[in-house]
Amino acid sequence: MIADQSHPAGGEPPSSNRALPDPSPWAEQYWRSGEQGILQVQRCRACDQWSFPPSPRCRSCWSADLGYDEVAGTGKLLTWTRNDQPWQEDPKPPYWVALIVLDEGIRILMNIINADEAALTRGTRLAVVFQNIGEGVWLPQARLVGAFS
Ligand SMILES: [Zn+2]
Repeated sequence: MIADQSHPAGGEPPSSNRALPDPSPWAEQYWRSGEQGILQVQRCRACDQWSFPPSPRCRSCWSADLGYDEVAGTGKLLTWTRNDQPWQEDPKPPYWVALIVLDEGIRILMNIINADEAALTRGTRLAVVFQNIGEGVWLPQARLVGAFS
């Protein structure tokens, strides 16, 4: 359960009204890992396969012996869609929902922030950044490599 309200010294307060994710015990470390600025992804200790989204059992060998390993937090864009509808208060449109393949080969869905739509193409390099959305949850998001705005 994600219940920790504290933040590290110097940590930023939550900057969002976004809905919080499902705090499944096996997914908690994924949602919290951004507090240290490093994305962690679930990995099977029996067969070494990455597991995303987090799951109580490995999809490859059905082992329940799963842990978390750090990933580089970089990857490339496979495909994306732009949302212009105000479905919720945060994020405000337009925003981009992207399927990314991390350099470790893990396919993962994220929003792209501060996107320059003209720069989005299959293979665009992306880096993971985190947004503190409250209750110890750091939402992984992607930005274009080299875009620091
Ligand atoms: Zn496995």
